[in-house]
Amino acid sequence: MLTVLDKTFVPFIGREPLQARIAELANQINHDYAGRCPLIVGVLNGAVLFTADLLKNLTIDCEITFIRVASYEQTASTGTVKEILGLTEAITGRDLIVVEDIVDTGTTIAHVCRQLAEKEPASIAIATLLFKPAALKTPVDLAYVGFEIDNKFVVGYGLDYDGLGRNTKDIFVLKES
Ligand code: 5GP
Repeated sequence: MLTVLDKTFVPFIGREPLQARIAELANQINHDYAGRCPLIVGVLNGAVLFTADLLKNLTIDCEITFIRVASYEQTASTGTVKEILGLTEAITGRDLIVVEDIVDTGTTIAHVCRQLAEKEPASIAIATLLFKPAALKTPVDLAYVGFEIDNKFVVGYGLDYDGLGRNTKDIFVLKES
């Protein structure tokens, strides 16, 4: 069990299946990008742990950068997505792998990809640890998906509830009351 502020969360995806799945995703990327040097674009704050663990399993040449977008407050999407912040690298002609913690409605990642596409990279692929197909509103092409999950609120392993709860090795789900 995990208590974050006023909410109780129960175990959902443990550290072992998480790490095993991340290693599988990394192997796919190693295969798909053999001989290329992609730029891994981690989306802060939620994807920080996933990006780090993915990177540890990559054996190809690659570079890494982080961007920031804010679109969520507590357990409800605000529907507003801010600008991409922090991208200093030249991405024109580069192969990009955008790394997200979770794709819910798809609004955030679609917005990120649209803005990145304006700078004419060679390619953009999305790697997301979690995906809630039932919540999707904006069509997005997800090249690498860790786990498809039900439309429930999860925390841990980078994902927060009101800024807290990111610092766990496992993922937890909101307890049904
Ligand atoms: P989308 O734009 O796809 O609706 O939402 C993406 C963002 O919303 C994620 O990057 C994440 O910050 C937040 N989000 C969506 N679902 C959850 C969830 O179940 N738990 C947490 N902690 N954040 C979520």
